[in-house]
Amino acid sequence: MQLVCLDLEGVLVPEIWIEFSKRAGIPELRRTTRDEPDYDKLMKYRLGILAQHKLGLPDIQKVISDMGPMEGAKEFLDDLRKRFQVIILSDTFYEFALPLMLQLGMPTLFCHKLEADANGTLVNYHLRMPNQKREAVKRFREINFKTIAAGDSYNDTAMLGEAHAGILFRPPENVTREFPQYPVTMNYAELDEEIRKASLRI
Ligand SMILES: [Mg+2]
Repeated sequence: MQLVCLDLEGVLVPEIWIEFSKRAGIPELRRTTRDEPDYDKLMKYRLGILAQHKLGLPDIQKVISDMGPMEGAKEFLDDLRKRFQVIILSDTFYEFALPLMLQLGMPTLFCHKLEADANGTLVNYHLRMPNQKREAVKRFREINFKTIAAGDSYNDTAMLGEAHAGILFRPPENVTREFPQYPVTMNYAELDEEIRKASLRI
């Protein structure tokens, strides 16, 4: 049996923080690890901004629900799940992803957790472990699964390297250049085709 491990943001759903910042009209939330490489500082900053704007988890989930998955994502995933065991590996949080996962038919998702207080204000975040995407694929290999992994960005490349086959989906130019060993796909038809090809090869 072969597994397909997919990144979530930029592959099946929009970049959640960026899209949220647009929809909520809070430009400060556009800050990413490119602007603040210290992830802990960045997350505390983001949670602080949300609290300042008095946005609790239900408000945030409402905005995220309205984003919806990317066009065609549900159909792509439904079809893929008929042929493979599909696991979504993401560095987002269950509480953020839930409204989108419901719209995707609740596929399996491994990600991190947020902590809210009694009023729904987000007070902290909990990473299950560092480098969980790569570590998960490593464990699947250890229990004899063959894995095809696909993602869009730099933080997916360790997972792609660990998998039996790696595929890029709409990657930024620098990732394409730095990782020429992975086929680049620009839409779901191409991604599906590369998964098929990889599945015959591995
Ligand atoms: Mg991504």
